[in-house]
Amino acid sequence: MPELYKNYIGGKWVEGRSGKTFENHNPADRHDLIGIFPASGSEDVDCAVSAARAAFPRWRLVPAPKRGEILFRAGELLRRRKEEIARAMTREMGKILKETRGDVQEGVDTAFYTGGEGRRLFGETTPSELPDKFAMSVRAPIGVCGLITPWNFPMAIPTWKLFPALLCGNTVVLKPASDTPHTAVKLFEILGEAGLPPGVANLVHGTGGEAGNALVRHRDVRLISFTGSTEVGREIAATCGQGLKRVSLEMGGKNGQIVLADADLNLALEGALWGAFGTTGQRCTATSRLLLHRDIKKEFTEMLIARAEKLKIGDGQDPGVEMGPLINEAARRKVERYVKIAKEEGARLLTGGEICQEGELAEGWFYRPTIFDRVTPDMRIAQEEIFGPVLAILEVKNFDEAIEILNGTPYGLSSSIYTQDVTRAFRAVRDIEAGITYINGPTIGAEVHLPFGGVKESGNGHREAGTTVYDIFSEWKAVFVDYSGKLQKAQIDIE
Ligand code: NDP
Repeated sequence: MPELYKNYIGGKWVEGRSGKTFENHNPADRHDLIGIFPASGSEDVDCAVSAARAAFPRWRLVPAPKRGEILFRAGELLRRRKEEIARAMTREMGKILKETRGDVQEGVDTAFYTGGEGRRLFGETTPSELPDKFAMSVRAPIGVCGLITPWNFPMAIPTWKLFPALLCGNTVVLKPASDTPHTAVKLFEILGEAGLPPGVANLVHGTGGEAGNALVRHRDVRLISFTGSTEVGREIAATCGQGLKRVSLEMGGKNGQIVLADADLNLALEGALWGAFGTTGQRCTATSRLLLHRDIKKEFTEMLIARAEKLKIGDGQDPGVEMGPLINEAARRKVERYVKIAKEEGARLLTGGEICQEGELAEGWFYRPTIFDRVTPDMRIAQEEIFGPVLAILEVKNFDEAIEILNGTPYGLSSSIYTQDVTRAFRAVRDIEAGITYINGPTIGAEVHLPFGGVKESGNGHREAGTTVYDIFSEWKAVFVDYSGKLQKAQIDIE
């Protein structure tokens, strides 16, 4: 019998109100049923928000260093369970074990980094323009936060949101992707064990259309933090706009790696392979465009094809495997659709372009690493996010053209340039329109203590991680203490 999982509300594991459920399957083997989860609706969201609301008055008064101590404990528990959670995550979403270990490690790093912030959470003190008056700024919690997360980083992304939100004194409701509810269950087991008081963090499973939408619309939810597609983010932003709700959006990308003629080609090759085919191309920061200088294009393309064709595809639980399946059937169909579009638009298929059907691979959502040449900047595969193992090669004649093409999409999340020329490297840092730029590194590889997010249609101006995340999850309050014993008027009492 498959295990029946529950929501976590008010510190207890509870069944969904409607009794409706959904199944969670292994993308490497569609017959492998991981568990059954509640398909929650607005009633469940209501309960979770009420629990979070009830817990808020007490939680916001817990000193931040004490809140941080709970996060340290959560980090320690995550570290202890790293291998078990990584294995379960590979089974649940398909990426290889090395990567799911990294995903859990990101949760550990975030726990420790955020826990330490409990003893900082700095405001500012500054002189007042008036005598005998003290001026400072402090951070205050916001209230109940709704967190909506995707499936590609089932531990890292929820912890990126949850831990800073909690540290700031907010209470939360998490709606994880319905493709990865199991990893969220493990995270909440850990939060309970770490001593988080009941109601402070609540978990509601279900689809975006039902549970997610109910959370976004809920009147008592003061903030929505969302990571996912630009399409859904746009819809959420519009709803939050109506309710004057704070909303932080981390969305799609169409990230490019530039390789100039003076680059270390072997280094650039490793970067391109990891950036394009790591996580089967299903990272918001994945490399989906490769901008090659015309002098090295032929040589580099040959090197790339040779290596891409050797990538071992299979169940990510097998230690020899280098690339797992796509997340589900719809994702594979989307990749197939874009491959067809690319051919119709005149791009030349160099390798891949087909699903894997041999042996056990036929049971999962596998697709070959795919590379297209003769891609022009206006083609759809050079403009639209595919979220799969599809790499488009564009030829560039010089640095300026490379930057222009790199910037020529609606997105602006991550970017990369390989060159030995320090002048060009710094010009790239200055001129690339993206939230993240790597010099001589691939487009993927965020670290938790630096700001993460994108410009243009990749984000809405916020940055998660780093110290910038606290601007999402707290309100600034300006505080004035007048000890003059008389009414003093700013701007008016200037003599
Ligand atoms: P989706 O936007 O489809 O889903 C993201 C989350 O939103 C899921 O939990 C989903 O629920 C939920 N959701 C869907 N519709 C609604 C709605 N109407 N109201 C509220 N919630 C909703 O993205 P994917 O899960 O397919 O993830 C892939 C996308 O995420 C890519 O575009 C990728 O670039 C982006 N992404 C961005 C990152 C970043 O930091 N910039 C990081 C990782 C991914 P459910 O799926 O359960 O229905």
